[in-house]
Amino acid sequence: MQKFKRVVLKLSGEALAGNKGFGFDDEVIEKICSSIKEVHNLGVEIAIVVGGGNFWRGRSGAQIERASSDTIGMLGTVMNGLRIQGSLEEMGLDTRLMTAIDMKEVAEPYIRRRAIRHLEKGRIVIFSAGTGLPYFSTDTTASLRALEIDADVILLGKTGTDGIYDKDPNAFDDAVKYDKLTYKEILQQEIKIMDTTATSLSMDNNMPLIAFGIDDPENMVKIFSQEEDIGTIVKEKF
Ligand code: UDP
Repeated sequence: MQKFKRVVLKLSGEALAGNKGFGFDDEVIEKICSSIKEVHNLGVEIAIVVGGGNFWRGRSGAQIERASSDTIGMLGTVMNGLRIQGSLEEMGLDTRLMTAIDMKEVAEPYIRRRAIRHLEKGRIVIFSAGTGLPYFSTDTTASLRALEIDADVILLGKTGTDGIYDKDPNAFDDAVKYDKLTYKEILQQEIKIMDTTATSLSMDNNMPLIAFGIDDPENMVKIFSQEEDIGTIVKEKF
């Protein structure tokens, strides 16, 4: 029996850019997609929410109004979705790209029941264009979509760390990793793992999350092995 039957994998734009920091790192993307394939081969239903930070982030955008800047960010996530879809299909996987902003020449519009049907048929579904709304993030999208499709857990792939720490592990030698945390602790201690909208949406609706290091994509596969505890598990309560 698998630990989780249906998961939402959140891939930040940063993860797709590797050390380049911008755009695509083809080698890194191949590795991530291979690990996704391994997890899929275990019989897990996988929905991916892609970020867009490797192209554009609305709040750090140019001197234009925020809503337009956020729309640029959302369109960036569609480019990432197409890129991931391409690699997964090259590997022989069946996929569907869905967008929260209608662009039917490029991808299917997001329809909840349809997404669930794709997953049931063994297709990997990629959710792009975030929520379709400005002022939100793709972390919030991951939480929202996980709830909508009744996923068992959100797998939050982080770069530069292998879980959640009490302080930045890259800046402090004495940083301590948490094995588990509650959403309330994240909010109270202002731990920078995802934004407060995403955190509270998951907290209020009891959606668990595992934050793990995506720099080694094999960690994603290890989450499903019974032997090792990978990353940090976050729940409403333990
Ligand atoms: N965005 C948005 N609404 C959403 C999701 C994303 O407006 O529902 C925009 C926002 O500008 C954000 C950008 O898309 O900065 C890229 O998404 P995000 O920063 O979450 O990507 P990540 O940091 O995960 O790469």
